[in-house]
Amino acid sequence: MFDLIIRKGQIVHPEGVFQADLGVWDDKIAQIAEEISEPAHQEIQAEGLHIFPGVIDVHVHFNEPGRTDWEGIATGSAALAAGGGTLFFDMPLNSVPCTLDAENFDKKVAAMRASSVTDFALWGGLTPANLGHLPELAERGVIGFKAFMSNSGLPEFSHADDATLYEGMKIASRLGLPVAVHAESDVLTGYFTQKLRSQGKTGWRDYLASRPVFTELEAISRALILARETGCKLHIVHISSGSGVVLAAEAKASGVDVSLETCPHYLAFTGEDLERSGAIGKCAPPLRSEAERDLLWAEVLRGAVDIIGSDHSPSPPSMKQGDDFFALWGGISGVQSTLAVLLTEGWHRLSLPLEGVARMLADTPARRFELNGKGRLEVGYDADFALVDLHESFSLKREDLFYRHKQSPYLGKPFTGRVKETWVRGQKVFGSGKISPVKGPTLIRPRSAS
Ligand code: ZN
Repeated sequence: MFDLIIRKGQIVHPEGVFQADLGVWDDKIAQIAEEISEPAHQEIQAEGLHIFPGVIDVHVHFNEPGRTDWEGIATGSAALAAGGGTLFFDMPLNSVPCTLDAENFDKKVAAMRASSVTDFALWGGLTPANLGHLPELAERGVIGFKAFMSNSGLPEFSHADDATLYEGMKIASRLGLPVAVHAESDVLTGYFTQKLRSQGKTGWRDYLASRPVFTELEAISRALILARETGCKLHIVHISSGSGVVLAAEAKASGVDVSLETCPHYLAFTGEDLERSGAIGKCAPPLRSEAERDLLWAEVLRGAVDIIGSDHSPSPPSMKQGDDFFALWGGISGVQSTLAVLLTEGWHRLSLPLEGVARMLADTPARRFELNGKGRLEVGYDADFALVDLHESFSLKREDLFYRHKQSPYLGKPFTGRVKETWVRGQKVFGSGKISPVKGPTLIRPRSAS
């Protein structure tokens, strides 16, 4: 007797897509077979639907505790679930306090347990002020340490200078955890920003000009050198340019233990889209040229990008309004749309294989961050999945968004491929446009901590 059987769906596995019945018992996948003859408490006829492993978003900022008015865990995780997501990794900032020591880790876990709709994992921070706290964060179960090579935009989270990064990587390497870097040169982006603003240049084109691709490449190179030297596992977050991926992929081929992340907005938009979206599309690194965007897609298609994370980083609408583009909040609301972007722009338009989607959104995140029982539709794994109609078209409307603030550069965008239901550990958290939070949202820790 199963709790749930999903019949005749197309199972999307990193090694192939095939039709099967999928049986769930308690919170786990108990059987996958051409036909399951046993009965179940509940059955879903999924003919014509694809079953994807639940999206694992390795990069979100839900901003709680402390800045819940920017997003919050309840609305952020609901949006994740509506987009087919079952697990997110919350960044150590823009919450207050930041996740820089064990005490503040515990505060964030308490907030997550109280409000999250799905399972969650936490990044710890790596700043000049908290090197001594990295071991206790590892003990608590962070999945890695996030450092900013450029200004974080928030005074309470200092950027990591080269010495901090070097020492932090040595400690992380000993602890067996990855260091994630926001790779933009602080010196160069700071220099260009100051130069342009002092000339009264404050438009969106000036903002783009203040963070050219080479300032990203310079920081990526430096992070790769430090990772090679320290033996640290490196994760480069939100690589915005095809050139950045090419550079990091070359280092990886020569033996650096590095994983490459990009975001859906770098695949869906170019810098010119800021004309229309204004600061709703502002992020750092910024949206790039069409040539860089096309090269980024080519790199995704050849399998050079490991992971696609949303870098969902919302703010109140007021922080997106004003004349000085430099002063406006940089961060895109997009956690709900990652899978839809990959299906629409990737699978439909560019023949990106569905197996690749499953790999970048679920399997590789689980493997890279050493999570047990997550990321694949296989017997013994957690029953985390999304039912998707690959052929249903829709344009994203304000009322579809689960975000606290209904703003996103994806609003009005036509998509093909819609999430119908999302299940976390055998519980339906999203269906018929409604959210019902998972019972007992769980902190997912890497194998090294469990
Ligand atoms: Zn981020």
